[in-house]
Amino acid sequence: MAIKTTNDKGLTYFYRTIGAAALVWTVTVICSASWNIYNERQQTLALVKKEALANFNKDYAFRLWGTKHGGVYVPPTGQTPPNPYLSHIPDRDITLPSGKRLTLMNPAYMLRQLMADFDELYGINGRITSLKPLNPSNAPDAWEREALTAFEKGAKEFFTITEHHRQRSLRLMRPMVVQAGCLKCHAHQGYKEGDIRGGVGVNVPMAPYMTMEKKAINALLLSHLVIWSIGSTMLVLVFFRGKRFILGQVKSQKAIMQSEEFVDSIVENIPDMVFVKDAANLRFVRFNKAGEKLLGYSREELIGKNNYDFFPKHEADFFTIKDREVFSNNQLIEIREETVRTRHGDEKVLHTKKLPILDREGNPLYLLGISEDITERKQAEKEIRKLNEGLEQRVRERTVELEAKGLELRDSQRALVNIVEDLNMKTEELKKANIKLQEMDRVKSMFIASMSHELRTPLNSIIGFSSILLNEWVGPVNAEQKGNLSTILRSGRHLLNLINDVIDVSKIEAGRIDSVPEDFDLHDVIEEAVHFFAKEIDEKKLSLTVESIHQEMHTDRRRLLQCMLNLLSNAVKYTEKGSVSVQARLGVRDRNLVEISVEDTGIGIREEDFPKLFNAFVRFDSPMRASIPGTGLGLYLTKKLVTEVLKGDILLSSRHREGSTFSIVIPARIDEKGFGNRG
Ligand code: ADP
Repeated sequence: MAIKTTNDKGLTYFYRTIGAAALVWTVTVICSASWNIYNERQQTLALVKKEALANFNKDYAFRLWGTKHGGVYVPPTGQTPPNPYLSHIPDRDITLPSGKRLTLMNPAYMLRQLMADFDELYGINGRITSLKPLNPSNAPDAWEREALTAFEKGAKEFFTITEHHRQRSLRLMRPMVVQAGCLKCHAHQGYKEGDIRGGVGVNVPMAPYMTMEKKAINALLLSHLVIWSIGSTMLVLVFFRGKRFILGQVKSQKAIMQSEEFVDSIVENIPDMVFVKDAANLRFVRFNKAGEKLLGYSREELIGKNNYDFFPKHEADFFTIKDREVFSNNQLIEIREETVRTRHGDEKVLHTKKLPILDREGNPLYLLGISEDITERKQAEKEIRKLNEGLEQRVRERTVELEAKGLELRDSQRALVNIVEDLNMKTEELKKANIKLQEMDRVKSMFIASMSHELRTPLNSIIGFSSILLNEWVGPVNAEQKGNLSTILRSGRHLLNLINDVIDVSKIEAGRIDSVPEDFDLHDVIEEAVHFFAKEIDEKKLSLTVESIHQEMHTDRRRLLQCMLNLLSNAVKYTEKGSVSVQARLGVRDRNLVEISVEDTGIGIREEDFPKLFNAFVRFDSPMRASIPGTGLGLYLTKKLVTEVLKGDILLSSRHREGSTFSIVIPARIDEKGFGNRG
């Protein structure tokens, strides 16, 4: 936005002044030069005239001298012959007693010769002329005639600058007055004393003076040019400095105006009420938009008025006291909370700061006020206070409740402490019982271990001797006896198996079974196990499939064989028709593992029975199983041996009435301490 300032006009005025000064200066210098040239010319003229007069005076003096003496006699020469125009004078020519001849030279004649010589010597020539010359060669030229005519009319002098003999010259002529001496020669012409007989003129060539004058004028012009240039340079300097100064003024004025606009826009955009009062009367002189909005009055209504024109007296009194307080110390005051009634009658709570604006001498000029509307904040604070009070009340109530609960809790705590004490006591008792049980377990294991020998010895005798009798190695037995002997043999074997299993279980539980690894071929163990049941499989007309691998093993061979026998025993026991297959292969993901599965197409196992299957003494009741003998220890023992001795795992998949597959996955090698080695 272009702001036209008074200084813009100042700049125009300045340009004009400088222009006028330059014009005046130039005209002055031109006038001075002209005046000086004119003077120079006048001086030249005066000089030339002076020279002309000097020559004239000399001629005049010389002629006067000649006239006074009535002429002079000179010896006649070729250059000065006897003057024929004086022939009427009787003594024109005389002869001296010595015989020397002399002729009379009248003043004019003398002068003419002098002038001719002078002209030859110095270039300044003179002439004597007359309207009635005796000598026709003295007849006047046009200029001389004019001069002579002027003399006749009474002029005492005639001079002009004119062209003479093709050069510029000053020509001066003065009248020649008839004197007594003149009459000697000119009386016959009718002249009497006092008449104007003619004129004596001097002709001074101007050329040398003109040269001097030209030089002087040139010097004058040069000096004027120099003076003009100095003056003009000064003017140019003044112009630029003045222009810079004025532009600076313009700029600063604009800056001030812009800064005022800037301040205005800030004040207008401040969201708080901003007002200014004059210090003398405390009347509003300024109000911003936020103030208008807050109070509901337009600034036109407010400007020029004071507190009492708008606000209730008690409010106006308060505001005025505070305004005066500002000026009493000339420092800022802060009113944290004051209420003001607006045009619409509602009350606003303000947080106001008032500060004095002073002049350079420190006298108060204005009061600046900034008021923030804190009505909503105050309202919110009030509500928060109310809420707080409610909360405090509730906290108090709750505290009472909590204290009551605390008492209850203390009782409960006490009860809890008693319970914990009881529990500790029970734990102690349990610990003691546990130790007792462990002791009993140890005693049981010791009992079983020692009893196993005592039980197995007679059992082996029963099995051995009943087998000898049944095979009729000691003599023939009848059919009934054979039946009884078979029962004895089967029961003995069952009992032996049971005893063996019980012993193994008790050993495992007592942690007394160690791995005894040895090197062997897996194929051999599988063959051995399958061979054990070959006869029974054949008798039951089951088909047998064996897929085996020659894998070098380093593990507990005896326990692996025991596991295989248990699994095969079950497969054969619980399969009435179909097949039993044994498969051995290396682990699919880990080639250091060996997986041996025993699959049958027997009665299968229900899925819900899976979790209980590997527990000790678990046998499932079903009509199909009723006649099948067993102890419920086989799978329990197998799992224990696979996991704890062979360091592997046992997996089961089975479908009821369709068949079962038991797989044991074990490392091919375990170290002496019995840890699985997977390469
Ligand atoms: P048991 O001496 O009774 O065979 P096990 O511990 O070997 O004891 O087996 C527990 C039970 O698991 C068996 O009583 C039987 O019901 C079931 N069982 C084991 N193997 C098979 C199988 N191959 N097919 C069907 N049921 C089986």
